[in-house]
Amino acid sequence: MKIAILSRNSHLYSTRRLVEAARDRGHEPRVIDVLRCYMNVTSHAPSIHYKGESLTGFDAVIPRIGASVTFYGTAVLRQFEMMGVYPLNESVAITRARDKLRSLQLLSRKGIGLPITGFAHAPDDVDDLIKMVGGPPLVIKLLEGTQGIGVVLAETQQAAESVIEAFMGLQVNILVQEYIKEAQGADIRCFVIGDKVVAAMKRQAKPGEFRSNLHRGGTANLIRITPEERSTAVRAAKIVGLNVAGVDVLRSNHGPVVMEVNSSPGLEGIEAATSKDIAGQMIDFLTKDAVTGKTRTRGKG
Ligand code: ADP
Ligand code: MG
Repeated sequence: MKIAILSRNSHLYSTRRLVEAARDRGHEPRVIDVLRCYMNVTSHAPSIHYKGESLTGFDAVIPRIGASVTFYGTAVLRQFEMMGVYPLNESVAITRARDKLRSLQLLSRKGIGLPITGFAHAPDDVDDLIKMVGGPPLVIKLLEGTQGIGVVLAETQQAAESVIEAFMGLQVNILVQEYIKEAQGADIRCFVIGDKVVAAMKRQAKPGEFRSNLHRGGTANLIRITPEERSTAVRAAKIVGLNVAGVDVLRSNHGPVVMEVNSSPGLEGIEAATSKDIAGQMIDFLTKDAVTGKTRTRGKG
């Protein structure tokens, strides 16, 4: 199979592993910088051009679209979909996952356990918003943050009010969330492929930090997850519409709660923590699934 890997950097661990896994299985992978793709949006023959050449003949595309290029990246992916190229994750699903509020709303509709979460626009409503989510300590986060940047713990009423007001003053969208203290700075990354959690790791924040992101100095370890955590993660990925997802779960007093669903989960941490060939499993899924051509949206909505 000819597989396009949309990635800005062919030296990244995840990109290298996907290329390697595809080659090992006799496929023809090619890394394509999404920002160098340009498109002809025409009615009959949608096409993508790349550094002067026309990209044709791909059977499948693996999007690894960074948070900073979501808009352009999903537009290029949509074009691949319209050309009939099978995407490992669909553009619509990636767009949903990138917006924390939108994905939590989708999950709440289907009864997935979530931290109590609020969203407001006007500074006049801040007081009531804080009450609504149970008062401090609270977590305040940017809707489109990633790698723990833009996630703040406000331990007092005063801190919560001033942080929320500061974000509102900057005209950025935030959500305000119950702080799951009992998770003790740990979360569980469930790596979902299709309808299975193929690997899971516990990430523990460094001392004095509540964010467990590996980019924020967290450490990863192998963990056995419960059947409830397993089914929560699989359902969450499915609801957002992702074939491959990193579903982050916190162990709360009221059971597993989903914090977020990532559409381009990194491979380095999870492969190191579990010694599993996750890249290989992604390629295996892709080849099985792409053959049946089950693209749901093909560039729609
Ligand atoms: P990002 O997209 O930046 O990774 P997250 O929502 O995943 O943002 O939050 C980053 C980290 O902060 C999480 O991995 C978790 O350790 C911690 N965290 C986030 N929300 C909560 C919460 N409501 N309660 C406890 N810890 C949280
Ligand atoms: Mg996260």
